[in-house]
Amino acid sequence: MGTLSTAVWRVDAARPDPAVLAEAGSLVRKGKLVAFPTETVYGLGANALDPDAIGALFAAKGRPADNPLTLHLAAVEGLPSYVAEIPVLASRLMKAFWPGPLTIVFKSAGNLPRAVTGGLETIAVRVPAHPVALGLIRAAQTPVVAPSANLSGRPSPTTAAHVLDDLAGRIHLVLDGGPTPIGIESTVLDLTDECPMILRAGMVTKEQIAAVSGVAPETVREAVIEQNPDWSRCRLILVEGPPGPAAQEVLRLYEKFALENKTTGIVTREERVGYYPGPVVGCGRAGDAGSVAAGIYAAIRQLENLDVILVESAPGDLGPVVQQRLRRVAFQVIRVGNAQ
Ligand code: AMP
Ligand code: MG
Repeated sequence: MGTLSTAVWRVDAARPDPAVLAEAGSLVRKGKLVAFPTETVYGLGANALDPDAIGALFAAKGRPADNPLTLHLAAVEGLPSYVAEIPVLASRLMKAFWPGPLTIVFKSAGNLPRAVTGGLETIAVRVPAHPVALGLIRAAQTPVVAPSANLSGRPSPTTAAHVLDDLAGRIHLVLDGGPTPIGIESTVLDLTDECPMILRAGMVTKEQIAAVSGVAPETVREAVIEQNPDWSRCRLILVEGPPGPAAQEVLRLYEKFALENKTTGIVTREERVGYYPGPVVGCGRAGDAGSVAAGIYAAIRQLENLDVILVESAPGDLGPVVQQRLRRVAFQVIRVGNAQ
């Protein structure tokens, strides 16, 4: 537990009070750590030009020093100061997806403190699409780095309460703008090589990137092992299959773990909550991958003090990005019936 007293200021997500943003921005400029909502997840903002603030940011998150930070800008106009070059492809992608959930890795201009990029010669940059994020970065009048506002190794926070669960006493302020709309982290795309490579899958898809780039989707590479560490505190078991067989398997596992005296929680869609014994969390609606993405981290945080979490995944419910993230952290992935 840290020793700071962490303030929470409520802000309107659509029309944040400029006076509040000005004050929060001035705290960032002075080296304080301020968490704020973006359209993806909550970020933990720090002044990118202040090595002490960067040091405090790594310490507050318990983040390994070699995991580089992403620079957040309020507008694309700020970009040339921090990158060595802007590839033509980057310009096209920025036009299509900024502000928005696409982080692009560029060759760095080398003018930010070394700690920002963990000594790398590249820099990841994003212009977020959230009025609070944009307003705060503008008000800070300095480039802002903003990793997700969680302790390293935990699910990214999608509400101010999640931020406080992890970082109360360790940071100065949380701007509470309500739940973040997308709910999972940005797509990270490396453009420092001739061949673009997706380092982290997100809502901006490989197909969208290929379409804007005018290339075939197969030419966009994807890093097979993504960079985010395992964040699941408990055993997460993903059960993939059509609703009937998946539900049967979830119930079977629930009973089995109960006999082993293991506490078990279930994550399903809102329509199917009544089908299961508790503790059960309804996360999103069937066939609506966006609603599942928006709620998945909150659902897991709600159940993670249990021994096991069973996540029901019927085809079309989770969507490829959430499915990929869960497969990566799952202790087991069990497929039943004829799921793809
Ligand atoms: P977060 O950990 O929430 O800040 O997410 C940012 C992601 O971007 C992490 O997976 C970082 O490792 C990745 N990232 C940031 N900077 C770079 C960089 N220069 N090169 C490659 N990946 C990066
Ligand atoms: Mg993170």
